[in-house]
Amino acid sequence: AFAGKTALITGSTSGIGLAYAKALAGEGANIVINGFGDKDAIEQERLGLEALSGAKALYSGHDLTKPEQIEAMMAEAATAFGGVDILINNAGMQHVAPVEDFPVDKWNLIIALNLTSAFHATRLAVPYMKGRKWGRIIQTASAHSLTASPFKSAYVTAKHGLAGFTKTVALEVATFGITANCISPGYVWTPLVENQIPDTMKARGLTREQVMNDVLLAGQPTKQFVTVEQVAAMAMFLCSDAAANITGANMSIDGGWTAQ
Ligand code: NAD
Repeated sequence: AFAGKTALITGSTSGIGLAYAKALAGEGANIVINGFGDKDAIEQERLGLEALSGAKALYSGHDLTKPEQIEAMMAEAATAFGGVDILINNAGMQHVAPVEDFPVDKWNLIIALNLTSAFHATRLAVPYMKGRKWGRIIQTASAHSLTASPFKSAYVTAKHGLAGFTKTVALEVATFGITANCISPGYVWTPLVENQIPDTMKARGLTREQVMNDVLLAGQPTKQFVTVEQVAAMAMFLCSDAAANITGANMSIDGGWTAQ
């Protein structure tokens, strides 16, 4: 369905971002992946995407906490593919600490990556989309764009900001065939979640099992982690023509978390 279109997904060497890349490649799109990781493993993923799509996949490994590197990534996409039709702002990180102990450098990094990088990538992608009178902007926000949990002040702040940014952009581009939406998962089983278990154990004085069942899944009424494939399926729907009038929305996939 997306042959001839180009999708750029930030933070797509792992987790949810990689699942978006695979789903879009499966529909024939050119793909730009981004993120950190082992060089050989990333090259294998890139080749796998090309095998899936029959189109091209480009790896752009820039650090999106730095605005000039976001400009470089978008320039690489423009050189390779003439622009971007589908932008998924997905790169994100977490840090868990009480506000009075929250490291200032971590706050700055999380705001830069989880919020400000989406502004830069969006402002650079929108001219291509307007020119083609079609575009899709999707943010991986979070249940934490709608509600809060203790000890995650930077993350919750960034994700709430992302939700407001998305609504604003949706209004600005509404007559150009471009939609902008948030997808807001609850807990998805990815390295991001796995890596916060030790800090949560420390912050709350709990065991690993207690963190998984009594903290992470405590608020998720289905008592199941969301899968990356379920998140990617929502993105595919938002990219389809059937979703042309869904814009400025925040699509929850959280097992009922924010219904409470
Ligand atoms: P992940 O850690 O598996 O993936 C994060 C990706 O971002 C990786 O590819 C990593 O290399 C990349 N990245 C990290 N720092 C970067 C930087 N400075 N520049 C460029 N790329 C960078 O995590 P994930 O769970 O797949 O998370 C993806 C998104 O989903 C994040 O925005 C996260 O907040 C959001 N989210 C995750 C969950 C969850 O439960 N896993 C829930 C809600 C929202």
